[in-house]
This record gives sequence, C-alpha cells and structure tokens, in this order.
Amino acid sequence: MRKVEIDKNSGFCFGVRKAIESATNLLDNGDKVYCVGDIVHNEEESNRLASKGMEIIGKEDISTIKDGTILFRAHGEEPASYLKVKKSELILNDATCPVVLKLQQRIRAAYEQQKKVNGQIIIFGKKGHAEVVGLVGQTNGEAIVVENSEGLKLIDFSRPIEIFAQTTKNPDELKQLVALISDKAKKPVQWHNTTCKQVTGRVPRIKAFASQFDIVVFVGGKKSSNAKVLFQACKEENENSYFVSSADELKKEWFHTSDQSVGVCGATSTPFWLMEKVAEKISQF
Ligand code: SF4
Repeated sequence: MRKVEIDKNSGFCFGVRKAIESATNLLDNGDKVYCVGDIVHNEEESNRLASKGMEIIGKEDISTIKDGTILFRAHGEEPASYLKVKKSELILNDATCPVVLKLQQRIRAAYEQQKKVNGQIIIFGKKGHAEVVGLVGQTNGEAIVVENSEGLKLIDFSRPIEIFAQTTKNPDELKQLVALISDKAKKPVQWHNTTCKQVTGRVPRIKAFASQFDIVVFVGGKKSSNAKVLFQACKEENENSYFVSSADELKKEWFHTSDQSVGVCGATSTPFWLMEKVAEKISQF
C-alpha cells in the first residue's frame, strides 16, 4: 500500500483564509458578491466560490454595477478602486490582508518623505501583479517596479533610494538586489525586508517535508507567485517533485512502484480539500 501524506503546514495563509471566509459568509447570507480580480490564485477554489454565486470583475467594472457588495481580496487595491466604490451605492467588504495593508501604509509614508528629498521608491516585485499595483498606487504611480537586475536601468542612482518588496518575494533575492543597487548608488540606500513570514517561513518547513518522501506532488495555481517559490524549494530538496494544479494533471508514470512514499503539499493559496483530492487519486494508482 502506498504511503501518501499531506503536509499539515501547507494551505491558505491567514490573509487568504480571511478573504475566503469573508466571501463565503457573504454568499451564505445571500448577498450578491463581486470580487475585484481572482480572490485567490487557485482556479479550483475560485470555481467553488463561483458556484455559490460570486462574480469576478475588473476594477473598471465597479462603476457599472448597480447594487451588491464589492469584495477587495487579500492582495489589496490601489486608492483609485476605493474611490470608485465610494462614488457608487455599493457596499465595500475590504478583505485586504492586514500585512499588505500595513505595507501600503509604510510605502505611502515613505513616498511622502522621499518626495521632499527628490528620492525614489523601488518595489522589488512582479510588474502588474495585483499586490504590486496596489503598492504602486500608494505613490501616485511613481514607484519603480524592479523584477530583476534588468530593471536597474530604470533607477536614477544619483538620487536617494528606498526599497520595499512584494510580500511573496524571496528574501535572499531581495538582499541580492539591495547589494546590486547599493553598489551603484551615489547616496545611502534605505531598504526594508517586507517579505511575509507566512511565506518565507514555509520554505524551510516545506524543504523538511519534501526530504522525507520518494516523490513530492506540489499542488498550486499556475498564476500564484507563492506557488512558484515553494515549488522551487521542493525541487531543490527533492528532484522527484512535480507541480499540478488539480488531480487531473497527475501522471501515472511518476509513480513507479507502490512502495514509494509520496508527500503532497501546496502553496499559501492552495485549499486543503484540493490537496486531499490529489492525495486520494495518488493512492489509487
Ligand atoms: S502571504 Fe502573507 S501578506 Fe500575503 S496574503 Fe498571506 S499572510 Fe497576507
């Protein structure tokens, strides 16, 4: 009989859990809920909420909706989205993760300070990612988003620099970027490790989990940055690690003999029920 174990430390972080609970409570109450963007970077969970009646809309749609509740997801929103809801008759349920909310406030305060000294706000993150859009919005759109060393050419090194990171970024990569920027800078560089411990603390834990099994199956959404980081950690620890978004993506040929042990784990955006479904299918191979 094959041993299949699910990682108890995997699954929703508290920010995502809180947003999903808000959505579920509203829907169970019979409210009409419009979530601005995917509530979680996990298609299976989004489909579950859609079947309860939740609709995903773009921020440009807010002004076209007549009644109901607008839900802001854990990633947070830019000030312009708050303004759109304020101008409407709609109810706002703001499920922005408290960690992201605090980061937005810090960036806004830093932007006001840097403006006085002609400084620049740098955000180490993924361009266009919902959280990053919300962060850039705190700076009147002026923050420079740097994804990698290529992005350094956007920075004016003769001016002061203050660096923040998208919460799901790898802290080691942040330190490397800070070192590259500090090397070129003509003025002192301020930086803040704003990566989220809910994500970074998972890297050593998931590595320890992955090392215990012959095969690791990682369950995550294809659009999730956090899933990429955590899957990479599994792969570094155990080369027999595979990424799936649902049980249908499992391949029988990954599992050679029935005595091979299998660990199932996932991202902060992966629902536990989905890992259970994947584990159940593996045990049938
Ligand atoms: S990873 Fe951290 S910052 Fe992001 S939603 Fe979860 S708890 Fe909040």
